Amino acid sequence: MAEFLWKKLKTLASFDRELSLNQEKKTTLLKKVEIEKVELTKIKIHITELKQDALLKQKQVDTLELDAASLNIEELKKKTAIETSTTKKELIALRHELSILETRRKDIEDSLISAWHQLELAEKALTSAKENQDALLATHTKIIHDCTSEIEALTSKTMLLLTQEKNLLDTIPEEWIKKYQNMKERVTDPIIPAIDESCSSCYYLVLPGDIARLKKGAILSCRSCYRLLYYDSDEEKSAHTAQY
Ligand SMILES: [Zn+2]
Repeated sequence: MAEFLWKKLKTLASFDRELSLNQEKKTTLLKKVEIEKVELTKIKIHITELKQDALLKQKQVDTLELDAASLNIEELKKKTAIETSTTKKELIALRHELSILETRRKDIEDSLISAWHQLELAEKALTSAKENQDALLATHTKIIHDCTSEIEALTSKTMLLLTQEKNLLDTIPEEWIKKYQNMKERVTDPIIPAIDESCSSCYYLVLPGDIARLKKGAILSCRSCYRLLYYDSDEEKSAHTAQY
């Protein structure tokens, strides 16, 4: 069993690396989902504001139209009164009142033209926002959906890894788990190969006697960085291939 222990610890390290990578990915995705949700809310608020604005502009138009209509009625009344007036004094007074009403009506008509224009602009803004809204909502919703699926996949992967890790831990002696975990608290690569008779992390030379023990499958601590060292001829070969 001893000659396989380094392989187990190496696998354990790869599980741990993958687990922490999954956690990082998950955190990034969760942040992205939050950002997208804020965007969705912003779009909805924008549309609500535009709707309220269009309603307000419509109310302004309605009020002015009512004012104009009631002024029309008053003007008609005055005109009828003028036609039936009996004295010159009354006629002058009525004509004066009528001219005031006419001025007011013209002012209201000017305001109404401007209010109609404002309403038209508000309605156009709302229509175009609504047209864009669907596409934007779909885009943001899709991103949220995709991120959520990725998060779910990562969660399943994590669960599986944890199970595999637990099974693996059951086969590793307690003292080695402790040594590995102590080292893991300090460095991200607690177990590494010795390559060319030295530690592949800090390059500190491994004593010839220790090299012999490593080649028999032992695990030793580097005398300089204390990482757990093992020897794997395949890894040494591929390190040479990478160099040249
Ligand atoms: Zn070292």
